Order: sequence, then C-alpha cells, then structure tokens
Amino acid sequence: MTKAWSILPDEWKPILTERGLRAFRADQILQALYRDYITDWDQATTLPKDFRETLKTEFPLTRAETLDVSESADGTKKLLIGFDDGQAVETVLIPATGRFTQCISTQVGCAMGCAFCASGAQGVVRSLTADEIVAEYMAGRRLGEITNIVVMGMGEPFANYDETLRALKLINAGRGPNLGARHITLSTCGVVPGFARLADEGIQFELSVSLHAPNDALRSQLMPVNRRWPLDELLAACAAYTERTKRIITFEYTVIKGVNDSRACAEELARQVRRVPMAKVNLIPLSPVAHRPDFQTPDEATMMMFLDVLMKHHVQTMLRRSRGRDANAACGQLRLRHLTKRA
Ligand code: SAH
Repeated sequence: MTKAWSILPDEWKPILTERGLRAFRADQILQALYRDYITDWDQATTLPKDFRETLKTEFPLTRAETLDVSESADGTKKLLIGFDDGQAVETVLIPATGRFTQCISTQVGCAMGCAFCASGAQGVVRSLTADEIVAEYMAGRRLGEITNIVVMGMGEPFANYDETLRALKLINAGRGPNLGARHITLSTCGVVPGFARLADEGIQFELSVSLHAPNDALRSQLMPVNRRWPLDELLAACAAYTERTKRIITFEYTVIKGVNDSRACAEELARQVRRVPMAKVNLIPLSPVAHRPDFQTPDEATMMMFLDVLMKHHVQTMLRRSRGRDANAACGQLRLRHLTKRA
C-alpha cells in the first residue's frame, strides 16, 4: 500500500507496472488527482469500477477533513485540517491582488519552542507525512487556484525535511499541481543542516530564515534553536547557501515591543545581515499570542525607525502587514482554541 498523494506524477506509470496494473491508466489518475481534486477514488468516474476498488486498497487517498474555518474581515481564511488519527494542523489562505497564497503546516505542533510562537507552546505531537502535506494543500486548492505557498504554518520544515521536500516537489511537478518553485517559500528558524541539503536539491524554492534577534544573547532567549546553532554558524550557512545557489535569502524579523525593537538592535541587525550576500529583511509586527501577554505589538513609529535604520545601511527591507489577525491567524492559534474547546 502506498498513499496516492505521496506518489510523484512521473512515478505512477512505473508503480502501476510494478504491481501488474495497467500503466496507461496513469494519465486518468493524474487527471482525477490534479485536475478534478477528488477526495475519494469513486469520484474518478473515468476509471472502471473494479480498478477504482484496486486503487482504494493499493493507493488510498489521505483524508484531510476541514474541521473548522475562521474567516477574517480582510478575506483571510484559516482552516483547521484533521487527519485520521485525530490530529489537526492549520492552513491559512490569504487573498491579495493577483495572488492567492496558502500558508501550510508541516508538523502537528512544533518542537522549536520560540517564545513568541503559539505553535510551539505545547511542543510537537508528530510530523506530517508527505501525503498529509499534499492533502492539506488540496484542501486549500479546492477553494481556489493557489498561486503561492509559504511553509510558515505550524512546524519546522527542516526538522521534517524529507517529507516536506517530497510534498513540495510533488506540488511543483509539471504533471501535478505545477506550482512554480519560485512561488514556494520555505521558512526555517535556523536548523543549519537543512541549508546545504536544500542547496543540493538544485530546485529554485525561495528560502526565508526567522532571525528575530541580532545577537546570540537575545536570540537564545527568544529562540532555543540558537543554543544549538548560534548566529555565527547560522549566518555562515546562509552565506554558503546564497553563494552556492545564487538565490536570495529573506530574513524574517518579528518586532516585539521593548524586546528586540531598539535602535541598537536595528543597527546590529544591519551589520549581521550584511554578512550574507544577497539578503533581504522582512519586518513583521508581532501578532499577540495568548500564552505571552507580556509580548506586545510595537507601534508604527518603532516599525518606521527600524525600517529607516536598515535602509540607511543599504539593507533591502520590506514592512509586512500581518493578515487575518481577527481569524486567530497568528501561528498555531486556531489549533490552540480547538484543543481548549475539546478539553
Ligand atoms: N518554523 C518555521 C516556519 C513557521 S513560523 C520558522 O520558524 O521559520 C513562520 C514565521 O512566523 C516565523 O518567522 C515565525 O518566527 C513567525 N512567528 C511566529 N509567531 C509569531 C507571532 N506571534 N507574531 C509574528 N510572527 C510570528
């Protein structure tokens, strides 16, 4: 038995042949999976009934059920996606002019324990498999054509590297969903071994790195991963990555009031980022999280000051608006609410 959503489009023919099944059915299968977005093999009506029965047992479709939806005033939709073992993750759909971005999760919870992040508040339950990640994408895809994916939901993609990459390669595949690699962004908190592995793939995915602090003392306080891979190691891995791939790295910097928002922090951040050729910075105001009421959103003037300092140092910087806040869209919040409701 192999999960259908874990099979790359080009693998279908050989897999069918290997199991003594008719390889010419592969095209009809791909049509059903990636044009009709079936949730059950019985919906693949171009296939004969007995063949559908075989598919059901040999290549089951992973169930990803939408358990809860919350929609915010700006049109952002957050879905809670449940799997057969009762575990659930969040995926967020963000409409913008000419874009429909899906934010996907790769783990149930997260082991990284960043202080400001709701996903890490309860640790990690388990990693998603490739077919579950694809099924999660499909739940979003049924609501509209996805133009961009950001792997910025629950979980650390480099802590679930193989399954995450398999899912992204499938979503990128020409005879599958065919979403361009440059439209798919991976985000890591700085799990250093992942950088060389991703560079080795030779696929032009975009890469974001969650920095959030410009020195080890502060970063280790906010992000435990920094104790394992401190800034020197992280930035060296980033520099090696951009040199190897000639691809930009985007540093994410969530600004937290009174914590990492001083002018000195901005100056230090500019110095650090300039150690990496081809780096950009995204500044994001903190989304408040229930478990850390002491962490607050900075005011507009602070964001502008930060931006100003970085620009003066010729660091390419973007100010990001947080979207969907009224839909509990700050990482991990919908699942937390769901867990609380159940408890
Ligand atoms: N584990 C990956 C991807 C998931 S988090 C990573 O760390 O990059 C996606 C982004 O949201 C990260 O930059 C993360 O630090 C940020 N984030 C988490 N909680 C946040 C909050 N409360 N407000 C703003 N950004 C937050």
